Amino acid sequence: MQIGDLIRRAGRQFDAAPCLIHGDRTVSFAEFDRLTDRVGHGLLARGLQPGDRVSVLLPNSIDGVVVYYALAKAGLVRVPLNSRETASEHTYKIEDSGSRGLVHAGGPPTQVEVMVDLDEITELMASAPAGGDKPCDVRRDVDAPLRLAYTGGTTGKPKAVVLTTTTEMAEVANFLVDLIPDTTPGSVMLHAAPITHGSGAFFLPHLVKGAPNVVLDKFTPEAFLAAAVDHGATTTFMVPTMISMLLEHPETATTDLRLQRLCWGGAPMATSVITRAVDVLGPVLAQLYGQAEAPLAITCLQPWEHLDHLGSAGKPYTFVEVDVRDTDGNSLPPGEVGEVMTRGPHTMKEYWQRPEATAETIEPDGWLHTGDLGAFDENGYLSLMDRRHDVIISGGYNVYPREVEDVLLGHPAVLAAAVVGIPDAKWGEQVSAAVVLRSPVGAEELTEHCDARLAGFKRPRRIEFWDALPTSPVGKSLRREVRDQMSDDEKETTHV
Ligand code: AMP
Repeated sequence: MQIGDLIRRAGRQFDAAPCLIHGDRTVSFAEFDRLTDRVGHGLLARGLQPGDRVSVLLPNSIDGVVVYYALAKAGLVRVPLNSRETASEHTYKIEDSGSRGLVHAGGPPTQVEVMVDLDEITELMASAPAGGDKPCDVRRDVDAPLRLAYTGGTTGKPKAVVLTTTTEMAEVANFLVDLIPDTTPGSVMLHAAPITHGSGAFFLPHLVKGAPNVVLDKFTPEAFLAAAVDHGATTTFMVPTMISMLLEHPETATTDLRLQRLCWGGAPMATSVITRAVDVLGPVLAQLYGQAEAPLAITCLQPWEHLDHLGSAGKPYTFVEVDVRDTDGNSLPPGEVGEVMTRGPHTMKEYWQRPEATAETIEPDGWLHTGDLGAFDENGYLSLMDRRHDVIISGGYNVYPREVEDVLLGHPAVLAAAVVGIPDAKWGEQVSAAVVLRSPVGAEELTEHCDARLAGFKRPRRIEFWDALPTSPVGKSLRREVRDQMSDDEKETTHV
């Protein structure tokens, strides 16, 4: 089965019902099927061949979604570019993926063989081809590349993860079985985050169930609240920074929302923020744990489990295997920390043209190394400690930055915190914190707060107050940049 089959069937079944909404523009299910056919044919008519990579640099919009799924129908491989990244980052991805095509709005970052701008997409969508509309139905092997997703990579250049029709279908199945099983034509998905990233995973599960997807230009708490009320949003996806912004907004608590699931993931969220979010928004939080190599689909934690399992990332999805192993590859019993491994149709096929990196990440029997450290509890709930390479080793002890950040964030004056290890002659690494304050507080008070809650070796020896923490284009805090900037003398530094 191909992605286009899902779209064609939804077009027939849900016909004139709203499928995709952006501002005052609405596209029905039948139209979405037709528009993706037209654009798919149009792209092939420009000389692109099935299997060619096509980079897409479009804002969050109906056109962007149409192009994504037109590519799937035409057997072309989507390479989404994030508009918040720089032109040189775009050029790198276009070249690394060997893109033959580029669909863009405004100034293209580089020239490729087939350049298609937004005006051309608009024209393709507006006019029926001579001889009438015909399905665009290029059928490819379900394990052939469907899209390439670039992942930051902690060292070296970003690598592209190859995702296939199998990966995409597994995501749809896992979401509908475990995360959002109550999706019906009455549900409404509000895409607050860029559809190029996590939120895009919610599009197909809603489409196949006949529910509309609403696209927001850009996340701000005001825009989110207004759209959520206007459209009666039942489901949304956010990364933790967005939830924090929403909770800081004065109108959030008083707005009457219909939300049933506020799905979050992509990075850990402090337990103090989770409890506050449940307080303010009700029991609607659902957590997902995944990574570019296994998109949003390793474990999930349902709303009713959230408060009883604070700090856990939930249980494996139905069609996903998860194991925690030591460095020799032995499975560890509950309570013991090791590397989280996963296997199943939800994982990437490979890193694009990087056989060595693929061999380091995927075992011959299919198990994928996530690079995350975690432990199961007796009931099968997984807790994540940290990324393997973010663990700080101070005086021979392992310090998990996340645990220290969580304690700092538990102080009412702390808005954001990043904990990193700075090289130290005596201890190997020194636990150091960059903190953004909500209200004034001294470093001593924060140290006392940590002393009362953390073992001595975990206490930050150095606390710096920053105006903001560096974040990635999708709003994740970047510990590596914090580590690099920590020695910057310009900032107010306090040694404790
Ligand atoms: P990325 O590949 O950029 O999506 O980053 C994935 C990484 O983010 C994972 O390997 C985890 O380290 C982290 N992550 C994702 N979801 C969660 C979560 N729910 N809780 C804690 N960490 C998470």
